[in-house]
Amino acid sequence: EKRVHEILSSVEDRDDTRLGVEAMDLLDAYGIETPQGDIVDAPADALEVAERIDGDVVMKIVSPDILHKSDIGGVKVGVPNEEVYDAYEDLVTRARNYQPDANIIGVQVQEMVDLDSGVETIVGMNKDPQFGPLLMFGLGGIFVEVLEDTTFRVAPVAESEARAMTEEIDSAPLLRGARGRDPVDVEGVTETIQRLSQLVTDFPAILELDINPLVATPDGVKAVDVRLTVD
Ligand code: ADP
Ligand code: MG
Repeated sequence: EKRVHEILSSVEDRDDTRLGVEAMDLLDAYGIETPQGDIVDAPADALEVAERIDGDVVMKIVSPDILHKSDIGGVKVGVPNEEVYDAYEDLVTRARNYQPDANIIGVQVQEMVDLDSGVETIVGMNKDPQFGPLLMFGLGGIFVEVLEDTTFRVAPVAESEARAMTEEIDSAPLLRGARGRDPVDVEGVTETIQRLSQLVTDFPAILELDINPLVATPDGVKAVDVRLTVD
């Protein structure tokens, strides 16, 4: 709780009410697992983080002015250590080209999650003027707007409601292992919905929050990306 307060109040010190992956600690504080990694502000530090991580890494621009990172080429997947320097410079250049006065916090270097065995889901919350905090669960990733396979509940939700959300989307069979694939960790997804429900109930200053994607694999779930708005 203390860490959550710190992160949320650090937002009050700046003009922006929008946060991106620099808010991943919020999720950690509520027991929502995130990939290994860190945010750095120099290429040499990026390499240091990458060398601590097994295998190739993902690198993302971190800026409150760029919350849809892929749209500007701000996400690089599968970067080997020898390309980390160039990737860092390229991400910053792309951000500058997109918006010369963008506030660039740095670059996030992140462990790769296994999308082949996993399903990209979205877990979110939006404050509805009539119903209050509305939790959303659905199929995630970059096609979420296209597919619109989502379901909603008013927070806080009981475990049974959270589980029902994972069962009622059209893509539910994907989670349960369609076409000979192993089922993903649906319990982990259910728990994540509940933990997010708790977070937004504890902190009414959060107006909206999206974990997109929450990657669910047979071995567990990981929140790969987050953005939120506070009032
Ligand atoms: P944004 O939503 O701002 O474009 P994301 O962090 O969600 O940025 O990344 C976009 C996409 O890149 C994800 O939906 C996912 O397909 C892929 N991706 C991001 N991070 C990882 C990761 N750690 N491992 C594997 N794929 C990733
Ligand atoms: Mg995303």
